[in-house]
Amino acid sequence: MSLDRQFFLNCSADLGLVLQEVCLICGADITQFEDVVVVSSAPVFLTEDVAIPRFIGVLYGTCSGCGVKVQSPRLSDESIALYYSTGAYRKFLMVSRTPNEREKVEGWRSMYVATKLLSKSPNNRTHLDFGGDSGLLCRMMVGEGDYASILIELNDESRKYAETFHKIPAFAEMPQKELKFGAISAIEVLEHLGNPVEVLSDLYSRLEDGGTLIATVPLDDPEWAHHYSIHHIHVFTENSLLELAKQAGITESPEIDAVETSLVLSVTRRKL
Ligand SMILES: [Zn+2]
Repeated sequence: MSLDRQFFLNCSADLGLVLQEVCLICGADITQFEDVVVVSSAPVFLTEDVAIPRFIGVLYGTCSGCGVKVQSPRLSDESIALYYSTGAYRKFLMVSRTPNEREKVEGWRSMYVATKLLSKSPNNRTHLDFGGDSGLLCRMMVGEGDYASILIELNDESRKYAETFHKIPAFAEMPQKELKFGAISAIEVLEHLGNPVEVLSDLYSRLEDGGTLIATVPLDDPEWAHHYSIHHIHVFTENSLLELAKQAGITESPEIDAVETSLVLSVTRRKL
């Protein structure tokens, strides 16, 4: 099945989609556009009231520089901010699973990241989780590692869930810059963003010396093609994830591991 990009864009203009022709990570041209047709398991609500139908097509190109796959057309940065701050994304998730069911299915990833953070930076006792939905990873860091942990999450309902169910302090905005953390995580967040370089750079700047940052993104594996969705602006390869780290100003060599359905980037800030 083939989809015409301009036609798709015209149909989707009111949904706030924009064409993306240069790489948001390394700046090179996007080439080799390919059509990826996604059968969404549920309607995608762009706002509480506006839904993209159940069956949607999304189109990706490949960066001629770093090799990342980039969705084009994609949600504009304004639409992304709107989408994740309203109840729309949560509504999309809730159609298939409640937070509790999601945690049962997705919990392995939080456990993997918590275990890795605790082994890499056992003596740094503060943790920030960026975009962590209901706060499961934060609770693990508090429970397993006796950490003081906070959640940064745009969605009101998710923050409420984290605070009432997991007893985790949750905020919509990042804390002041001067506050440093011994462990920082962003599980399956960067692929949703139009500005992953800026966000990763900001997270890295908040690491204490000797602290560890872990970010996971979905693996680009044909078996996991459902990862291609309107939500995922980027599909990373190992190389493009390393390029992202470089562009974000990370000077240490990050480790990249493929684990289950994710690529995991971890970096420990060297002690001066
Ligand atoms: Zn690139």
